[in-house]
Amino acid sequence: MLSRPVSSRPVEELEPGIRRATFRLPLGIDHVHVYALDSSDGGVTLVDTGLGSRDPEARWRPVLDAIGAPVDRIVVTHLHPDHVGGAADVAALTRAPVMQGREDYAICLRAWGPEWDPERFAAFWRANGMPESEVAGLGGDSARLGEAVHWQPDPQLLDPGDEVDGWRVEVLRGHADGHIVLVRDDVLIAGDTILDPITPAIGLYANGRPDPLADYFETLRRIEELNPRIAYSGHGVPIERPADRARTIAAHHRERLDRALASLDGRPVSAYEVAGSLFRPDLPLQQRRFAVAEALAHLVYLVGEGRAARADGGFVAA
Ligand SMILES: [Zn+2]
Repeated sequence: MLSRPVSSRPVEELEPGIRRATFRLPLGIDHVHVYALDSSDGGVTLVDTGLGSRDPEARWRPVLDAIGAPVDRIVVTHLHPDHVGGAADVAALTRAPVMQGREDYAICLRAWGPEWDPERFAAFWRANGMPESEVAGLGGDSARLGEAVHWQPDPQLLDPGDEVDGWRVEVLRGHADGHIVLVRDDVLIAGDTILDPITPAIGLYANGRPDPLADYFETLRRIEELNPRIAYSGHGVPIERPADRARTIAAHHRERLDRALASLDGRPVSAYEVAGSLFRPDLPLQQRRFAVAEALAHLVYLVGEGRAARADGGFVAA
């Protein structure tokens, strides 16, 4: 199942010079897009790589054949498994260099490399109210997911303002701390910074930046300011009028902030408990961790606003 693109055609043209392939995902979301941007020299820049595969040839050959041009470089927008996961696979098949944001690559090493510390990870969830039975289950899930993350060691590192074949690199934080996007003329290759119809998950994780929702509001303002004609994202549909979508997503988070605040009372409430009131209670374990991280991001933002306060490992209304 994983080796086959979702669409009947392996690659679809979205507009001249921009093509898209879509792979199925066995995660909370069922697909991920990768993009082929025509290069100035007749090849393509591939943006994002889906999950790693046990059989990269079977997974990628139909896509590479349909692209029908050499892959000059592979750009990874962020370290999440469905974006960085196939980087080493497709690099091996094409001999193209992988490019990744400098900050994102450092985080990638901590998440998937030798710096990974499962104890710290478990302690973080425990400290945010997750029951021990669930914490134990997450370790195995992470290990299984880690097997599908074939990140590329020693990529070429990108900084904000760098140019990649005419595309400008920007760092737009929130969904991932060092998430990069590509901007050229009125087109945004957005990764998961802006999505439609779902909204990007904004969570606070162990080792993460302290206030990811504040980072994300800044990203949404930046997208409004850039005001691209269209954004091509990692999931969902191409976004026409991304500035409008950015305003809608900001309103969604403001509403979620109000709901998070409403779930606090006189006693300290954990992020785990708040997640239970923000999201469906029957979420699968894998997704529950994202719900807790998302609840925590909202609670921390409320603390920053002075509407909530930390108390005894939990949060109270201020
Ligand atoms: Zn994604």
